[in-house]
Order: sequence, then structure tokens, then C-alpha cells
Amino acid sequence: MGTNPVPNKKLAIFTATGCRACENAILDIHYQVSSLARCADIAFWPYMLGSEVRDLEKQESIDVCFFAGAIRTSSDREAALKLREKSRIMVACGACAAFGGMPGLVNISQWSVVSGQSQRTMDNKQQTNEEEKPELPPLESRVLGLPQIVKVDYLVPGCPPTQNFLWAAIQSLVCNGQSPARLSFAASRLPEAIAQAITSGILPPKGSIFAGEKAVCASCSRVKEEKRFETYKRPYQAYEELGRCLLEQGLVCQGITTQEGCGGLCTAMGQPCRGCFGKAEAIFDPGAKMVSAISSTFDSNDAQEIAALVDDIVDLVGTFYRYTLPTQCALFSTPSKD
Ligand code: SF4
Ligand code: SF4
Ligand code: SF4
Repeated sequence: MGTNPVPNKKLAIFTATGCRACENAILDIHYQVSSLARCADIAFWPYMLGSEVRDLEKQESIDVCFFAGAIRTSSDREAALKLREKSRIMVACGACAAFGGMPGLVNISQWSVVSGQSQRTMDNKQQTNEEEKPELPPLESRVLGLPQIVKVDYLVPGCPPTQNFLWAAIQSLVCNGQSPARLSFAASRLPEAIAQAITSGILPPKGSIFAGEKAVCASCSRVKEEKRFETYKRPYQAYEELGRCLLEQGLVCQGITTQEGCGGLCTAMGQPCRGCFGKAEAIFDPGAKMVSAISSTFDSNDAQEIAALVDDIVDLVGTFYRYTLPTQCALFSTPSKD
């Protein structure tokens, strides 16, 4: 395909349980997609090529796999295991693969109940039309992030990942040594190790996360005035004051606990951060840290008032762990495969 003396990399792109916007994001690197086409051959991509997991048997090996989506069904697990077996580099692409994502919120339900309902739905359908027996893969007992079932080499978080870090991942993992090094759309936000990997052509250290090094607050354009809020507000209730920190205005903004990298995309538009890049490195549990941050920003020192305020937050788990419940909530997570 290319004229480069270095052989093209074999690329696999796959979504397990997810919305496929991560795959679209890979194409959303604008004109840089031509650089990708010059240094990679797509060996496996169900979404664009109609590939099937059994086709992987024909592949001797894959150089880089971008795996999106959470592990929710037996076929997700089968694909993850097979792609790991075949791939030299496995990348968890997007919040669903990296952390369990929004599909992972189902883990707060009693799984036996959910599973039972699902089975009943299938049974009903089978009774109404025997000819159309759905062949749905069995559900896993709980939704998992990719690192919980296979060893993952790199993470590109976000829902979906942002162009700058996806392009950085493609340059350093796929195009390294094959295309002229060009730093990212926003090179200034790349951690040093990743910027160096792009320019040197040497792979970044295993385990690297293609994201910033601090929390979203560090790159948010809003100003913190060290003021306390008096009333908690939901986004539709607030006429936010332009330029002021949303948390200090009473909106539950998770920029404090979330890994930087998007540059504060949501907060710039007046919407609170919901944590799609996962927790910042220094944070142990993002939900617990958010309760603490809200408590200290609320204009009260009364423990009961503070507890009532936190209780008042609608869908506490769905807010604080929207993208991360299976992997980053201390109560629900299980260890990753090392
Ligand atoms: S991380 Fe977001 S964009 Fe990617 S598959 Fe999951 S829901 Fe879709
Ligand atoms: S809490 Fe939210 S709005 Fe406030 S500075 Fe941090 S990211 Fe910006
Ligand atoms: S502001 Fe938060 S939710 Fe929005 S893109 Fe950035 S990390 Fe994701």
C-alpha cells in the first residue's frame, strides 16, 4: 500500500459493547487520516470491512489493536481474548474499554434480576415467533473494562477520545518510524514521555495513558474564586455566570477528580465535567473525592446539612461513576490483569 521501506503496520479496530463513536473518532483525525493510511493496513475492522472474529484465525499477527467498548457478553470476551492473543500492542480506546464506561453502570443492579429479566424477554420473543429465535450471546455476570480480562498496553480515555490524543496514539504506536514526526493537534498538552515517543519513534513506556498529567481543572478556562456555593443546582436550573468555576456556582463538576486531556471541553460550554477521561492519577476513588470536594465547597459547616445536600444529588452513582464504575469505584471494581 505505501512506498515506505518499513512494512506497513497491521491494524485491528473493534468495538465490543459500545456506541461505536470511538471508531468514528479514529476517522475524525481529519487530514491526518492520510498519514494513517500510508503507514497501516487495516487487517480487521468489523464496522468498516465486515470482518468477523473467526477471520482472525487467518491472521498470523496484528501489530496494533484499538479495542473500544466494554465487556458485556461472551462474544465481547471471546473477541478480546482472540485480539489480545493476536496483537503485539493492545490499546483500550475510549472510556468503555478503559474503565467499563456507561455500560458498566448496569453493575449497580442485582445482576441476577437483570439477567433473569433479559432471559424472560428472550423467552417471550421465542414464544411469539419460533421462526425468529434470537441468537444473542449470553451476558457476562458483570460488565468489565478491557484491562480486567486481558493485559492492556496503552489507554486512550475519553467518551469518545479527543483528536489530539488519538492522533498522538496513532503516531507513536502505529506510524512510529514510518512517517515524518509531527506533534499533535495540541502538542502543548501532551505529557513529555508521549511527545518524546512521537518525535523519537520509540514506543512510549507500557502502561502509558494518552491523556494529560493533571486534573481537568488545570486546563479549564474558568476561574476559581475560592467562593462557596449556597444551593446545589442541576445544569438545566442554572444560568451560569460566564467564566466562573461551575462547582463554585453549585453545579456538580468533576473536573477536580478527572484526568486532564480534553482541555475542559464541557466546562467551556457551561456543562459540568462528568469524568469521561477517568480519575486523575492522584485520586483513589473519584466518587469519594467528589463528596469531599462538594462538602468543602458548600457554604455550610453543619454535617447534617452537608449530608442532606449530597443526598439531594440525583443519581449519585450515575453521576460520579458514569464512565468508571467497574474499574474505579472502590466498592465495585475488581483488579486489572497485569
Ligand atoms: S467510550 Fe463513549 S464513544 Fe466510545 S464506545 Fe463507549 S460510549 Fe461510545
Ligand atoms: S471544578 Fe469544573 S468548572 Fe471549576 S475549575 Fe474545575 S473543571 Fe473548571
Ligand atoms: S470536560 Fe470532563 S466529561 Fe467533558 S470531555 Fe472533558 S473529561 Fe470528558
